[in-house]
Amino acid sequence: MNIPASRVLKFGGTSVADYDAQGRSAQLVANQSESRIVVVSAAAGVTNALVGLCQAKDPDTAENFRNLIRDRQQHFFEALGEPDALKATYWTLMEELDASGPCKGQKRDQLLSLGERFSSLFFAERLRQMGLPAVQLPARFLIATDNQYGQGEPDITNTRTQVQVALNDHLGEILVTEGFVGADSEGNITTLGRGGSDYSAALLAEAADADWVEIWTDVKGLYTTDPRLAPKAHPLAELSFAQAAELATFGAKVLHPKTLWPAMRSDIPVFIGSTLDASGGTVIRREVTGGERFAALALRKNQTLLKITSPEMLYSYGFLARAFSLLAKHQISVDLVTTSEISIALTLDERGSEQALDQQVLEELKSLGTVEVQEGLALVALVGDNLNSTPKVAAEVFDALGNINVPLICHGASPHNLCVLVDASDGPLAIQRLHERLFEKVSVAAAS
Ligand code: ADP
Ligand code: ASP
Ligand code: MG
Repeated sequence: MNIPASRVLKFGGTSVADYDAQGRSAQLVANQSESRIVVVSAAAGVTNALVGLCQAKDPDTAENFRNLIRDRQQHFFEALGEPDALKATYWTLMEELDASGPCKGQKRDQLLSLGERFSSLFFAERLRQMGLPAVQLPARFLIATDNQYGQGEPDITNTRTQVQVALNDHLGEILVTEGFVGADSEGNITTLGRGGSDYSAALLAEAADADWVEIWTDVKGLYTTDPRLAPKAHPLAELSFAQAAELATFGAKVLHPKTLWPAMRSDIPVFIGSTLDASGGTVIRREVTGGERFAALALRKNQTLLKITSPEMLYSYGFLARAFSLLAKHQISVDLVTTSEISIALTLDERGSEQALDQQVLEELKSLGTVEVQEGLALVALVGDNLNSTPKVAAEVFDALGNINVPLICHGASPHNLCVLVDASDGPLAIQRLHERLFEKVSVAAAS
């Protein structure tokens, strides 16, 4: 029997950064009578410190990172009154930290998961101290993945079985678990990729047949752009799955890019709100009323432009196939593509490529033609509706960009986005200018 699970609430790093933030988040769980599963991130900064520890070049650096992490956890343990029920697990986790050092592969995932393992231990206790029936359940017993360490791919069927068993075993209780963490078929801890707690929440909601996923963070929803880049950015009340997925993919950090896959598959609406001010927020769902032509702007850093030029491309066939199979052979993920008669230009996103363009790949590419590589670029994406059939959109975008150089533009393949590549140093300015033109004034295209 499937138990109706209602809501999965996820609290990000800033929402569990310290005892006060944890208290605000716990209060939101208490206010929401449908809370069934709570997913928590590591306290803000802890996963970065664990990455630092993994990569430390000398013992002093490693010890500095360990101390930083110890202090953060000690803060919670003391503030909660050093409860007896937590002592054994707390000291076991501390011992794991003491024994840790630079590592790779599965050991790295095991270490990176430590922030979430501490965090969920404390959060469950905080809920219990508020009188709520909370139980901490390690995510390794809930989220099943393959063994691609650092980027675990979930096994939806096994995840569903495990989550349904857990819900049945804990009827009437609130399950508190770690975001970002899973386990492979041998029970080894895996992680879902940086920022993956949002994805965990959506996967758990799908597996639990939940009615809603709530992503609680430090901003009041999905904004017209990153509010850190444009101070006049404002939250959007509603967004379709398609638009929000484009925004997340194009760099809106507030949602991990994979979060909306389970939500779309299982048609579960997603709410994004702020633990600092719980009024308002964004609802993301399949159908929205009166979608805006221009929904939002996103900025994605660390882009590489690869250009291959060859006169052989003229009137020949198979050239593009050869270029793409070569990149596929090296597991290099291609993002945007444009072509001319004798050249092909494509972007590679750091995240999507298993391996950067190394010397061997470049040598092989040279067999196809002249190869140029430009690094240090940023992708600016305008996300909206009917962008490829709206007159003047491109004119307005280029007019707003002014003297900013654009080495590549992608427009037309999707009605939902128009992308331009700019120098990384121009990225924030490009966002500001576009935001001012398209979201702060009535634009020509939007009004026509
Ligand atoms: P959490 O730790 O809660 O997961 P993140 O730092 O991952 O939070 O995501 C929240 C941040 O995402 C915000 O502080 C904001 O700077 C950034 N962000 C980027 N694009 C957007 C956007 N379009 N709307 C809202 N926030 C955005
Ligand atoms: N703590 C992990 C990270 O910082 C996962 C997350 O917060 O979503 O990447
Ligand atoms: Mg996040």
